[in-house]
Amino acid sequence: MPFADGGRLRVPRPDELIAAPPGTIPTVLPRRTPLLVGGHAARNRVALGALLPAGYTRLLLPAYRRQSDAPALPLFGYTFACVVADELHVAAMRTDASDDWTPRTFAPSELESYVASRRARDPSNAVLAQLAVCATTYGCFTAQNVFLERGEAALPVSPRCNARCIGCISEQDADAGFPSPQARVRDEADVDALARIALAHLERVPDGIVSFGQGCEGEPLLRVTTIARAIERIRAQTPAGTINLNTNGSLPKSLAVLIDAGLDAVRISLNSFRTDVYATYYRPLGYGLADVFESVRHAVDCGLRVSLNLLTHPGVTDDAREVAACDDFLSAVRVAMVQTRTLNIDPQRYFAAVGRPSQPPLGMREALRRIGAAGVRLGNFTHAH
Ligand code: SF4
Repeated sequence: MPFADGGRLRVPRPDELIAAPPGTIPTVLPRRTPLLVGGHAARNRVALGALLPAGYTRLLLPAYRRQSDAPALPLFGYTFACVVADELHVAAMRTDASDDWTPRTFAPSELESYVASRRARDPSNAVLAQLAVCATTYGCFTAQNVFLERGEAALPVSPRCNARCIGCISEQDADAGFPSPQARVRDEADVDALARIALAHLERVPDGIVSFGQGCEGEPLLRVTTIARAIERIRAQTPAGTINLNTNGSLPKSLAVLIDAGLDAVRISLNSFRTDVYATYYRPLGYGLADVFESVRHAVDCGLRVSLNLLTHPGVTDDAREVAACDDFLSAVRVAMVQTRTLNIDPQRYFAAVGRPSQPPLGMREALRRIGAAGVRLGNFTHAH
Protein backbone atom coordinates (compact mmCIF):
# COMPACT_ATOMS: atom_id res chain seq x y z
CA MET A 1 0.00 0.00 0.00
CA PRO A 2 1.51 3.34 -0.94
CA PHE A 3 1.78 6.05 1.66
CA ALA A 4 -0.52 9.07 1.40
CA ASP A 5 0.43 12.61 2.36
CA GLY A 6 -1.84 14.40 4.81
CA GLY A 7 0.84 16.82 5.93
CA ARG A 8 2.40 13.79 7.56
CA LEU A 9 3.00 10.54 5.64
CA ARG A 10 0.57 7.83 6.62
CA VAL A 11 -1.60 4.97 5.39
CA PRO A 12 -5.11 6.09 4.34
CA ARG A 13 -7.93 4.96 6.61
CA PRO A 14 -10.65 2.84 4.94
CA ASP A 15 -13.23 5.63 5.54
CA GLU A 16 -11.06 8.02 3.54
CA LEU A 17 -11.17 5.96 0.34
CA ILE A 18 -14.05 5.80 -2.16
CA ALA A 19 -14.32 4.19 -5.59
CA ALA A 20 -13.28 6.84 -8.11
CA PRO A 21 -16.46 8.74 -9.12
CA PRO A 22 -17.41 9.32 -12.79
CA GLY A 23 -15.34 12.18 -14.20
CA THR A 24 -12.21 11.31 -12.16
CA ILE A 25 -9.01 11.75 -14.20
CA PRO A 26 -6.10 9.48 -13.18
CA THR A 27 -2.74 11.22 -13.68
CA VAL A 28 0.90 10.29 -13.32
CA LEU A 29 3.34 12.65 -11.59
CA PRO A 30 6.36 12.70 -13.91
CA ARG A 31 9.85 11.95 -12.50
CA ARG A 32 8.32 11.30 -9.08
CA THR A 33 8.38 7.90 -7.36
CA PRO A 34 5.68 6.74 -4.91
CA LEU A 35 6.58 6.36 -1.24
CA LEU A 36 5.58 2.95 0.08
CA VAL A 37 4.82 1.84 3.64
CA GLY A 38 8.23 1.57 5.26
CA GLY A 39 9.15 4.94 3.72
CA HIS A 40 11.20 3.68 0.77
CA ALA A 41 10.52 4.91 -2.74
CA ALA A 42 9.61 2.34 -5.43
CA ARG A 43 12.37 3.30 -7.90
CA ASN A 44 10.89 1.48 -10.88
CA ARG A 45 7.44 3.04 -10.49
CA VAL A 46 5.97 6.50 -11.11
CA ALA A 47 3.70 8.21 -8.63
CA LEU A 48 -0.03 8.18 -9.37
CA GLY A 49 -2.61 10.82 -8.52
CA ALA A 50 -6.15 11.68 -9.55
CA LEU A 51 -8.09 14.83 -10.41
CA LEU A 52 -11.57 14.86 -8.90
CA PRO A 53 -14.81 15.97 -10.59
CA ALA A 54 -16.77 18.87 -9.10
CA GLY A 55 -18.78 18.02 -6.00
CA TYR A 56 -16.00 16.14 -4.19
CA THR A 57 -13.44 17.28 -1.62
CA ARG A 58 -9.95 15.82 -1.50
CA LEU A 59 -8.90 14.19 1.81
CA LEU A 60 -5.28 13.16 1.11
CA LEU A 61 -2.45 13.89 -1.33
CA PRO A 62 -0.15 11.51 -3.23
CA ALA A 63 3.12 10.87 -1.37
CA TYR A 64 6.16 10.91 -3.62
CA ARG A 65 9.88 11.50 -3.87
CA ARG A 66 10.80 14.08 -6.51
CA GLN A 67 13.80 13.26 -8.70
CA SER A 68 16.27 16.08 -9.33
CA ASP A 69 15.26 16.49 -12.98
CA ALA A 70 11.52 16.37 -12.31
CA PRO A 71 9.52 19.03 -14.20
CA ALA A 72 7.29 21.45 -12.26
CA LEU A 73 3.76 20.11 -11.87
CA PRO A 74 1.00 22.14 -13.55
CA LEU A 75 -1.81 23.61 -11.46
CA PHE A 76 -4.13 20.71 -10.72
CA GLY A 77 -5.72 19.32 -7.54
CA TYR A 78 -3.61 16.18 -7.09
CA THR A 79 -5.48 13.63 -4.97
CA PHE A 80 -4.23 10.36 -3.45
CA ALA A 81 -5.26 7.37 -5.59
CA CYS A 82 -4.66 3.62 -5.37
CA VAL A 83 -6.16 0.38 -6.65
CA VAL A 84 -8.33 -1.66 -4.28
CA ALA A 85 -9.86 -4.93 -5.50
CA ASP A 86 -8.88 -4.04 -9.10
CA GLU A 87 -10.78 -0.75 -8.90
CA LEU A 88 -9.36 2.77 -8.77
CA HIS A 89 -10.02 4.43 -5.43
CA VAL A 90 -9.42 8.03 -4.37
CA ALA A 91 -9.13 9.77 -0.98
CA ALA A 92 -12.18 12.01 -1.26
CA MET A 93 -15.70 12.64 0.00
CA ARG A 94 -18.79 13.87 -1.75
CA THR A 95 -19.59 17.39 -0.49
CA ASP A 96 -22.20 18.66 -2.94
CA ALA A 97 -24.44 17.70 -5.81
CA SER A 98 -25.92 19.74 -8.64
CA ASP A 99 -26.99 18.74 -12.15
CA ASP A 100 -25.39 21.99 -13.23
CA TRP A 101 -21.93 20.80 -12.26
CA THR A 102 -22.11 17.20 -13.43
CA PRO A 103 -19.38 16.44 -16.02
CA ARG A 104 -20.65 17.48 -19.48
CA THR A 105 -20.26 15.96 -22.91
CA PHE A 106 -21.35 17.62 -26.14
CA ALA A 107 -22.02 16.15 -29.56
CA PRO A 108 -19.56 17.43 -32.22
CA SER A 109 -20.11 21.22 -32.76
CA GLU A 110 -23.13 21.16 -30.42
CA LEU A 111 -21.58 23.67 -28.01
CA GLU A 112 -20.28 25.78 -30.87
CA SER A 113 -23.80 26.06 -32.29
CA TYR A 114 -25.13 27.28 -28.94
CA VAL A 115 -22.32 29.84 -28.89
CA ALA A 116 -23.00 30.98 -32.44
CA SER A 117 -26.76 31.42 -31.95
CA ARG A 118 -26.31 33.34 -28.71
CA ARG A 119 -23.63 35.60 -30.17
CA ALA A 120 -25.83 36.27 -33.22
CA ARG A 121 -28.32 37.94 -30.85
CA ASP A 122 -25.64 40.37 -29.62
CA PRO A 123 -22.76 40.33 -32.17
CA SER A 124 -20.92 43.40 -30.92
CA ASN A 125 -20.72 42.21 -27.30
CA ALA A 126 -17.00 41.90 -26.42
CA VAL A 127 -17.71 40.05 -23.16
CA LEU A 128 -19.64 37.40 -25.09
CA ALA A 129 -16.59 37.03 -27.34
CA GLN A 130 -14.41 36.38 -24.26
CA LEU A 131 -16.94 33.95 -22.84
CA ALA A 132 -16.98 32.04 -26.12
CA VAL A 133 -13.25 31.35 -25.62
CA CYS A 134 -13.78 30.41 -21.97
CA ALA A 135 -16.65 28.07 -22.88
CA THR A 136 -15.03 26.28 -25.80
CA THR A 137 -11.27 26.44 -24.98
CA TYR A 138 -11.18 26.29 -21.16
CA GLY A 139 -14.40 24.28 -20.75
CA CYS A 140 -15.57 26.75 -18.09
CA PHE A 141 -19.04 25.70 -16.86
CA THR A 142 -20.25 29.19 -15.88
CA ALA A 143 -19.16 30.54 -19.29
CA GLN A 144 -20.96 27.65 -21.05
CA ASN A 145 -24.07 28.44 -18.97
CA VAL A 146 -24.33 31.83 -20.71
CA PHE A 147 -24.75 30.02 -24.02
CA LEU A 148 -26.76 27.07 -22.64
CA GLU A 149 -28.96 29.52 -20.71
CA ARG A 150 -28.95 27.62 -17.45
CA GLY A 151 -27.79 27.98 -13.85
CA GLU A 152 -24.93 30.30 -12.89
CA ALA A 153 -23.54 32.53 -15.66
CA ALA A 154 -20.09 34.14 -15.77
CA LEU A 155 -19.50 37.91 -16.01
CA PRO A 156 -15.72 38.47 -16.16
CA VAL A 157 -14.89 42.14 -15.62
CA SER A 158 -11.33 42.80 -14.36
CA PRO A 159 -7.88 42.28 -15.97
CA ARG A 160 -6.04 43.51 -12.86
CA CYS A 161 -5.59 42.00 -9.42
CA ASN A 162 -4.30 43.22 -6.04
CA ALA A 163 -2.96 39.81 -5.07
CA ARG A 164 -0.30 37.49 -6.59
CA CYS A 165 -1.47 34.04 -5.53
CA ILE A 166 1.20 31.35 -5.84
CA GLY A 167 -1.41 29.18 -7.58
CA CYS A 168 -3.17 31.85 -9.63
CA ILE A 169 -5.00 30.10 -12.48
CA SER A 170 -5.12 33.16 -14.76
CA GLU A 171 -1.66 34.66 -14.40
CA GLN A 172 1.73 33.23 -13.43
CA ASP A 173 5.18 34.83 -13.22
CA ALA A 174 7.39 34.01 -16.22
CA ASP A 175 9.81 32.11 -13.97
CA ALA A 176 7.09 30.08 -12.20
CA GLY A 177 8.07 27.01 -14.17
CA PHE A 178 4.50 26.22 -15.15
CA PRO A 179 1.86 28.09 -17.15
CA SER A 180 -1.46 29.39 -15.80
CA PRO A 181 -4.28 27.12 -17.07
CA GLN A 182 -6.17 30.15 -18.41
CA ALA A 183 -5.06 33.41 -20.03
CA ARG A 184 -6.06 36.46 -17.97
CA VAL A 185 -8.68 38.65 -19.71
CA ARG A 186 -6.99 41.72 -21.16
CA ASP A 187 -9.88 44.11 -21.67
CA GLU A 188 -11.99 45.97 -19.11
CA ALA A 189 -15.60 44.92 -19.75
CA ASP A 190 -18.05 47.79 -20.11
CA VAL A 191 -21.30 48.34 -18.22
CA ASP A 192 -23.55 47.94 -21.25
CA ALA A 193 -22.07 44.63 -22.40
CA LEU A 194 -22.23 43.16 -18.88
CA ALA A 195 -25.81 44.34 -18.27
CA ARG A 196 -27.06 42.98 -21.60
CA ILE A 197 -25.69 39.48 -20.84
CA ALA A 198 -27.02 39.53 -17.27
CA LEU A 199 -30.51 40.71 -18.27
CA ALA A 200 -30.81 38.11 -21.02
CA HIS A 201 -29.81 35.39 -18.52
CA LEU A 202 -31.92 36.47 -15.53
CA GLU A 203 -35.02 37.09 -17.65
CA ARG A 204 -34.80 33.70 -19.41
CA VAL A 205 -33.40 31.31 -16.76
CA PRO A 206 -35.56 30.36 -13.74
CA ASP A 207 -33.56 30.88 -10.51
CA GLY A 208 -30.73 32.20 -12.69
CA ILE A 209 -27.49 33.47 -11.12
CA VAL A 210 -25.05 35.91 -12.71
CA SER A 211 -21.59 36.08 -11.14
CA PHE A 212 -18.95 38.78 -11.43
CA GLY A 213 -15.48 37.37 -10.62
CA GLN A 214 -14.32 34.36 -12.64
CA GLY A 215 -11.22 32.20 -13.02
CA CYS A 216 -10.07 34.00 -16.14
CA GLU A 217 -9.83 37.42 -14.52
CA GLY A 218 -8.20 39.40 -11.72
CA GLU A 219 -10.01 40.99 -8.79
CA PRO A 220 -13.50 42.40 -9.62
CA LEU A 221 -13.53 44.84 -6.66
CA LEU A 222 -10.95 46.85 -8.63
CA ARG A 223 -13.81 47.59 -11.09
CA VAL A 224 -16.32 48.69 -8.42
CA THR A 225 -17.82 51.60 -10.37
CA THR A 226 -18.49 49.50 -13.49
CA ILE A 227 -20.06 46.65 -11.51
CA ALA A 228 -22.21 49.02 -9.40
CA ARG A 229 -23.61 50.71 -12.51
CA ALA A 230 -24.23 47.32 -14.15
CA ILE A 231 -26.11 46.10 -11.05
CA GLU A 232 -28.23 49.28 -10.98
CA ARG A 233 -29.05 48.87 -14.66
CA ILE A 234 -30.01 45.21 -14.18
CA ARG A 235 -32.19 45.85 -11.13
CA ALA A 236 -33.86 48.79 -12.85
CA GLN A 237 -35.22 46.28 -15.37
CA THR A 238 -35.72 43.03 -13.46
CA PRO A 239 -35.92 41.73 -9.84
CA ALA A 240 -35.35 38.17 -11.10
CA GLY A 241 -32.58 35.82 -10.02
CA THR A 242 -29.41 36.39 -8.06
CA ILE A 243 -26.56 38.84 -8.68
CA ASN A 244 -23.46 37.29 -7.10
CA LEU A 245 -19.85 38.40 -6.72
CA ASN A 246 -16.84 36.06 -6.44
CA THR A 247 -14.01 38.04 -4.86
CA ASN A 248 -10.92 37.96 -2.67
CA GLY A 249 -12.76 40.38 -0.36
CA SER A 250 -9.75 42.70 -0.18
CA LEU A 251 -11.62 46.06 -0.33
CA PRO A 252 -14.50 46.23 2.19
CA LYS A 253 -15.45 49.81 1.22
CA SER A 254 -15.80 48.85 -2.45
CA LEU A 255 -17.86 45.81 -1.50
CA ALA A 256 -20.13 48.14 0.51
CA VAL A 257 -20.75 50.21 -2.67
CA LEU A 258 -21.86 47.07 -4.53
CA ILE A 259 -24.13 46.03 -1.67
CA ASP A 260 -25.77 49.47 -1.76
CA ALA A 261 -26.16 49.07 -5.54
CA GLY A 262 -28.17 45.85 -5.08
CA LEU A 263 -25.77 42.91 -4.84
CA ASP A 264 -27.59 39.79 -3.55
CA ALA A 265 -24.83 37.35 -2.71
CA VAL A 266 -21.06 37.21 -2.35
CA ARG A 267 -18.48 34.41 -2.27
CA ILE A 268 -15.17 35.37 -0.66
CA SER A 269 -12.07 33.26 -1.27
CA LEU A 270 -9.33 32.40 1.22
CA ASN A 271 -6.84 29.57 1.73
CA SER A 272 -6.55 30.04 5.48
CA PHE A 273 -7.99 31.76 8.57
CA ARG A 274 -4.41 32.41 9.77
CA THR A 275 -2.83 35.74 8.77
CA ASP A 276 0.63 34.36 7.98
CA VAL A 277 -0.58 31.37 5.93
CA TYR A 278 -2.98 33.66 4.02
CA ALA A 279 -0.28 36.24 3.26
CA THR A 280 2.23 33.60 2.16
CA TYR A 281 -0.16 32.21 -0.46
CA TYR A 282 -2.04 35.34 -1.63
CA ARG A 283 0.96 37.70 -1.50
CA PRO A 284 -1.54 40.58 -1.16
CA LEU A 285 -0.78 44.12 -2.42
CA GLY A 286 -2.02 46.75 0.02
CA TYR A 287 -4.46 44.65 2.03
CA GLY A 288 -4.48 41.75 4.51
CA LEU A 289 -6.67 38.98 5.97
CA ALA A 290 -8.21 41.52 8.39
CA ASP A 291 -9.69 43.40 5.41
CA VAL A 292 -11.09 40.16 4.04
CA PHE A 293 -12.72 39.38 7.41
CA GLU A 294 -14.18 42.93 7.52
CA SER A 295 -15.74 42.34 4.09
CA VAL A 296 -17.33 39.09 5.29
CA ARG A 297 -18.69 40.69 8.46
CA HIS A 298 -20.16 43.67 6.59
CA ALA A 299 -21.85 41.49 3.96
CA VAL A 300 -23.34 39.28 6.71
CA ASP A 301 -24.53 42.35 8.63
CA CYS A 302 -26.22 43.63 5.45
CA GLY A 303 -28.13 40.36 5.06
CA LEU A 304 -26.43 39.11 1.92
CA ARG A 305 -26.11 35.39 1.19
CA VAL A 306 -22.43 35.02 2.12
CA SER A 307 -20.28 32.04 1.18
CA LEU A 308 -16.61 31.44 1.87
CA ASN A 309 -14.64 29.80 -0.94
CA LEU A 310 -12.14 27.81 1.12
CA LEU A 311 -9.13 26.64 -0.91
CA THR A 312 -8.51 23.30 0.81
CA HIS A 313 -5.27 21.37 1.10
CA PRO A 314 -4.71 18.36 3.40
CA GLY A 315 -2.04 19.12 5.97
CA VAL A 316 -3.00 22.82 6.02
CA THR A 317 -6.82 22.97 6.20
CA ASP A 318 -6.88 20.24 8.86
CA ASP A 319 -3.88 21.53 10.83
CA ALA A 320 -5.14 21.86 14.44
CA ARG A 321 -4.15 25.55 14.50
CA GLU A 322 -6.11 26.13 11.25
CA VAL A 323 -9.20 24.31 12.48
CA ALA A 324 -9.14 26.36 15.69
CA ALA A 325 -8.88 29.63 13.72
CA CYS A 326 -11.70 28.48 11.43
CA ASP A 327 -13.89 27.56 14.44
CA ASP A 328 -13.28 30.96 16.02
CA PHE A 329 -14.26 32.84 12.85
CA LEU A 330 -17.34 30.76 12.00
CA SER A 331 -18.68 30.97 15.54
CA ALA A 332 -18.31 34.77 15.47
CA VAL A 333 -19.51 35.51 11.92
CA ARG A 334 -22.62 33.67 10.64
CA VAL A 335 -21.86 32.95 7.01
CA ALA A 336 -24.42 30.88 5.08
CA MET A 337 -22.03 28.45 3.47
CA VAL A 338 -18.46 27.25 3.19
CA GLN A 339 -17.64 26.01 -0.29
CA THR A 340 -14.60 23.74 -0.32
CA ARG A 341 -12.39 24.20 -3.38
CA THR A 342 -9.50 21.79 -3.92
CA LEU A 343 -6.42 24.00 -4.16
CA ASN A 344 -4.77 23.37 -7.54
CA ILE A 345 -1.04 23.34 -6.88
CA ASP A 346 1.99 21.03 -6.59
CA PRO A 347 1.63 19.85 -2.93
CA GLN A 348 5.36 20.01 -2.26
CA ARG A 349 5.51 23.57 -3.62
CA TYR A 350 2.66 24.59 -1.31
CA PHE A 351 4.18 22.92 1.78
CA ALA A 352 7.51 24.54 0.96
CA ALA A 353 5.75 27.91 1.06
CA VAL A 354 3.34 27.59 4.02
CA GLY A 355 5.05 24.81 5.99
CA ARG A 356 3.96 21.36 7.13
CA PRO A 357 1.96 20.88 10.35
CA SER A 358 3.95 20.79 13.60
CA GLN A 359 1.52 18.21 15.02
CA PRO A 360 -0.33 15.34 13.31
CA PRO A 361 -3.30 17.00 11.51
CA LEU A 362 -6.90 16.24 12.56
CA GLY A 363 -7.77 14.81 9.15
CA MET A 364 -9.86 16.53 6.46
CA ARG A 365 -13.01 14.63 7.43
CA GLU A 366 -12.77 16.04 10.95
CA ALA A 367 -11.98 19.55 9.68
CA LEU A 368 -15.08 19.49 7.46
CA ARG A 369 -17.20 17.96 10.23
CA ARG A 370 -16.24 20.91 12.46
CA ILE A 371 -17.48 23.38 9.83
CA GLY A 372 -20.82 21.58 9.79
CA ALA A 373 -20.86 21.49 13.59
CA ALA A 374 -20.59 25.29 13.56
CA GLY A 375 -24.01 25.29 11.88
CA VAL A 376 -22.62 26.29 8.48
CA ARG A 377 -23.75 24.63 5.27
CA LEU A 378 -20.88 22.80 3.55
CA GLY A 379 -20.78 22.43 -0.21
CA ASN A 380 -18.97 23.24 -3.44
CA PHE A 381 -21.36 25.32 -5.53
CA THR A 382 -23.24 28.60 -5.35
CA HIS A 383 -26.87 27.55 -5.15
CA ALA A 384 -29.90 29.72 -6.00
CA HIS A 385 -31.36 29.01 -2.56
S1 SF4 B 1 -6.99 36.70 -6.22
FE1 SF4 B 1 -7.55 35.46 -8.03
S2 SF4 B 1 -6.88 36.60 -9.82
FE2 SF4 B 1 -5.87 37.48 -8.01
S3 SF4 B 1 -3.89 36.46 -7.94
FE3 SF4 B 1 -5.30 35.32 -6.63
S4 SF4 B 1 -6.17 33.71 -7.95
FE4 SF4 B 1 -5.22 35.24 -9.27
